[in-house]
Order: sequence, then structure tokens, then C-alpha cells
Amino acid sequence: MRNDQVDPHQRRPGVPRGGPGEARDRPGLFDAVLFDRDGTLVYDVPYNGDPDRVRPVPGARAALDRLRAAGLRLGVVTNQSGLARGRFTAADLARVNARVDELLGPFDTWQICPHADPGPGGAGCRCRKPAPGLVWDAARALGTHPTRCVLVGDIGADMTAAGAAGASGVLVPTPATRAAEVAAAPAVAADLNTAVDLILWRHRLGAPDPSPPRPGRRRCVLVARSDSVGDVLVTGPAIRAVAAGADRVVLLCGPRGRAAAELLPGVDELVEWALPWIDPQPGPVDPAEMARLVARLAEIGAEEAVLFTSFHQSALPLALLLRMAGVARISAVSDDYPGSLLDVRHRVPPGIPEAERALSLAAAAGFALPADDEPRLRLRPDRLAPAPTAGTATGRAGDTDTAATLPEPGYVVVHPGSSVPARACPPEVCARIVEALADAGHRVVVTGGPGEAPLTARVAGRSGIDLGGQTSLRRLAAIISRAACLVVGNTGPAHLAAAVGVPVVSLFAPTVPFGQWAPFRVPTVRLGAADAACRHTRATTCPVPGHPCLSGIEPRQVVEAVRLLDRRIADGGGSAVPIGEVGVGTGGAPRTAAPAERGVRAGADVPGRPAAGTGPGGVSDVGGHGVVLPVGDPVTASAAEVGR
Ligand SMILES: [Zn+2]
Repeated sequence: MRNDQVDPHQRRPGVPRGGPGEARDRPGLFDAVLFDRDGTLVYDVPYNGDPDRVRPVPGARAALDRLRAAGLRLGVVTNQSGLARGRFTAADLARVNARVDELLGPFDTWQICPHADPGPGGAGCRCRKPAPGLVWDAARALGTHPTRCVLVGDIGADMTAAGAAGASGVLVPTPATRAAEVAAAPAVAADLNTAVDLILWRHRLGAPDPSPPRPGRRRCVLVARSDSVGDVLVTGPAIRAVAAGADRVVLLCGPRGRAAAELLPGVDELVEWALPWIDPQPGPVDPAEMARLVARLAEIGAEEAVLFTSFHQSALPLALLLRMAGVARISAVSDDYPGSLLDVRHRVPPGIPEAERALSLAAAAGFALPADDEPRLRLRPDRLAPAPTAGTATGRAGDTDTAATLPEPGYVVVHPGSSVPARACPPEVCARIVEALADAGHRVVVTGGPGEAPLTARVAGRSGIDLGGQTSLRRLAAIISRAACLVVGNTGPAHLAAAVGVPVVSLFAPTVPFGQWAPFRVPTVRLGAADAACRHTRATTCPVPGHPCLSGIEPRQVVEAVRLLDRRIADGGGSAVPIGEVGVGTGGAPRTAAPAERGVRAGADVPGRPAAGTGPGGVSDVGGHGVVLPVGDPVTASAAEVGR
């Protein structure tokens, strides 16, 4: 491992294996697949207390056995509010679960929430989905981390719980699943068998098929990823995979992604060049300029190139130039016929997360992430700016410090800007979000790049700390790394948060697929109308009057999303204590619950809760969320209560 690839998590004592950045003891992307019970594994019989009425959905047994055969462990995570409502007894529930186990098991863990929905103004428990407590508890029981788990379920609450824990989600809709829930899901499969196909395809990215002969270790490999900050960051794991099989890696990036490219582990040299077939505002193609690029590419002397692109970009023009520069072996994703431009023409199913798509290309080219490198976004710790501290100002060009006072770690960052206007939440909505978060007891920091000072001043108002217009990318990474979570649209800083392990409230415009562009392997709650008319248009300015996909976000939804991402839900272990009870009453009166949005619902009112994430061990220089798993393997109180 290179010095620049050392992850501070791997050197931190007291973090059991399986956490982000920890060594994997198994190849592949996942360790476990978790299932919702009713409507997913077995037909939904409301409040069923009768084992004779348990009927598996078609193909369930075979689908589950395929996952077991692949070495994946299986668990069940299920809301059973019928217990709290007195619709069945704990003994009934145990018999029903035993019948499920008999027909489809054995399952390696069962995690059950026995609580009922809180009433209006009531505080939710930590475990009732969409809260992520059951996912955290299942991962802990299996000795892994939620980011190495997939949750398969049939409603939006399952997908929200998965995302809020950092797990992958696959929705298998039933006739009862609402269209909006289908639209919002990160991945959708028609049935369990199809879901298993998708999970296994993704799982095996980390363990490529060794059957075709592969060239040995390479001396110098050129990797290319043009476009913006976020595009470069999500390609990081794939670039690390290439770096693990090459002595030297040269990254060809564009001017918009340069700042992010400088932060990537595994890169030995950067070549910056604006490619007119990639750049969103391209100049004309200049033959002399192209000749200079070919000469520059030849000068690198790479014997191989791996060309990373988004699903709507073409790798072929660059492949042609690389052929002209004499590069012998070229790999890329291309649906278009490549002729002799590519040696490895890779194909990827639609909807795969961008980071996994890139990893799959690296694997197809013969480069796999080593077992000690967890497939998550990472930054070079040595390239990060020191955290801004109160009252300091260095004025170094491009890395300007802030004179504003940054609060103690655990604040919430709101980043209102976006590289693409269609993905920006309206400023007036962001301003109300800042106020609502402050009213709920959070310390709020508002960030923005150069040129965004008027925006951030407006959004920060009197409730937030305005750091707009003065944060370079590396300084922004340092600020975010000390946050409890980041509230942001689908833009570069969302991926920056993922790279420092900080949870994200994603105000996601559906112009591109969420499953491809969600913050990768970090706890995330999605907000915004996933079924708005701009869906999958790739529009850069919103084509729909009023920008309804994001303008309809209610600030109280953001406050609730921040609650779902609270460390105390993750760390809850054996506690089934409603987290909303903690600190309630320090400000604000309970408000009336909004009409339920099933995606984010439980415990909708938690007024006055103090800011999260300030506990010991919660923050480090990189990877600020600092997920610290309790030692041991506690059974949840909720499961214990029902006799399992
Ligand atoms: Zn619960």
C-alpha cells in the first residue's frame, strides 16, 4: 500500500473490522443481504399471528439459496407494530417467524421492531423503519457494517432505512407499493429472483472472474475521468484498483474536476485537458490542439489505458487519440460499436451506482481492489486542508481560510449551491431549512464556493454561520469532515461528504437516476419529488415551471432526515429507547405532523433536540462520522422482547 493510500480508519484503535475503511475478510461488494418480511419474503397478511397463514412469495426459497451459495449471509429486518397494538402476542410472533425460518431459513439474524407508529407530535423509536436502527443492528449482529449490506423490501420505508444506514437498497414492488416509492427507490427489481441477479452482479465486481488470462502487473497505466468534481470522486475506488496493479498511474482530468483529482489516492501524476466531447460548454475542436494532446499522451508512455465515463458520455474519441499516441491496450464502457479502438469493450446494466460502474470496468480490464481496500470513496489525508479554527485567516491563494468562527464538531452543514442549476434547491427553501434546523437545536454552517457569497448570505440569514465564497474544495472537505451531516443537492460536495464518511441529506433533483448518483456507501436520506416531470431528462436548467422536484421540500422533512442520520441510532445497540425522548423540550413546541410521506415518516416531530454527533470518538480528521461500533454482538432489546 502506498503512503497516500493509508486510511486513518485503518490505524485507529478500537474500531472493529467491518467499519468503513476496514479490511475486508471476504472479496466482493457485500457481506449480507437483509430482507423485509411481509410483502417481500412472504405474502403480507396484516397483523398475522398464525403460522399456518405464512406463504412465501414465488421463487423465494431458490433466490435466497443462490445468495447463500455466493457466501452472503442473510437477515430479516421487520416492523411488527401488531405487538404494540395488541393484535398478536409475542408467542404468536415467534411462531410465525419460526415458520418463515422453516420455509426460507435459516437466517443469520432477525431484527424486529415491536413499536407502533408515534402519533402526531410523538417521537419515533430508533428501529421502526424508515428509521435505520434495525439495519445497524443486523449489520452489527453479522459482524459487518451497513455499507456492506443490501436491504430488499417492498415499500419506501425499507429503502429509506437502508439508505439512512448507508446500506444499498433494492425495491421489489407489490401491487400495494405506491408509484412515488418506486420512483424514489435506488434500484427496482420485478421480483426476488431479479433482485438477486442484480445483487450478485454488483457483489462480484470486487472479485472479478479470474478465468480469462490477464496481463501481469503494469508499469504505467493512464486512467481518464473528465467532467466535474463529483464525477472524479466517484471514480476514486476504480482508480485505486488500477493503482493496485500498476507501478504508476497518470490521471487525465478536466479543469472542472482538477481540484478533486488532486485529492484522490493512487494517482501519481495529473494531466489536465478540456475534452470538447465531454466538457458541458465546449469550445470548437482545434486540430492543432488535438495534435498537442496526442503528443502529450504519447509522452506519458502508458502501455495501457482505462477510460472512465458516465453512462451518457462516449469514451471513443479519447480511445482514438490514445491509439494515435501508441497506447497498446484500451478498456472502456461502450454501447456503441468501437471497431478496433477498444481491447476491452465493457457493458454495464443501467442503474448501477457510478462508483460500481467504474469498478466493474477496472475489474474487466483486470484490476481489482485489494482485499484491504474497502470499496468506498476516499481522499488523501495528506492533501486535506487543516480544519478552519476560530478567528484564523491565512489568505493563502486557493485555500483561503475563514475568519468566521466554526463551531465545535457535530454541526450541520447546508450547501445550497450546485454545479448545475436544475439540481439546486431554491434559496428561499434552503433559508427555511437553515431556520428549521436551528430551531431544532442544531448549529448550522452554510458553505459555498467562490461566487456564491450572495447565495450563502441569503440562506444563512440570522440562524446560520455563513462560510460562503471562501471555501476551496480541500477546505470544504475539512469543514464537512467535522459535521454531523451535510444537507446538499446532487452536486460535488455530496460526494465529498461520502469520501469523508459524513452522512448526507440529499435534496435530489431526479434529472438523473438516484441509484447512479446517490452519495456512495454513506448514510443518506433522499428528499424531493422523485416522480417530478424533470425525471431522467438530464436537464441542466429545470424544464418544469416552479422547479417542483425541490421547491416542495418541507424544512421539517430535513429536520426529520437529520434525526434518521443521528449517530445515536447507529450506536444504539441494545437500546430500544425512543431516541426522540433524548433532549426533547429544550426548545420549540411540538408541531402538527405533516401529511405522512411514507419515505420519511416515523417520529416526525422531534422539536428542540440538541445537535448530534458531538460525543467522543465521533469525529476524526478524515471520515468524520466516525462510526464506532460497540464491542460485542448485542441482541436488540426489541428482538429480545419478542422472545427470539
Ligand atoms: Zn422500534
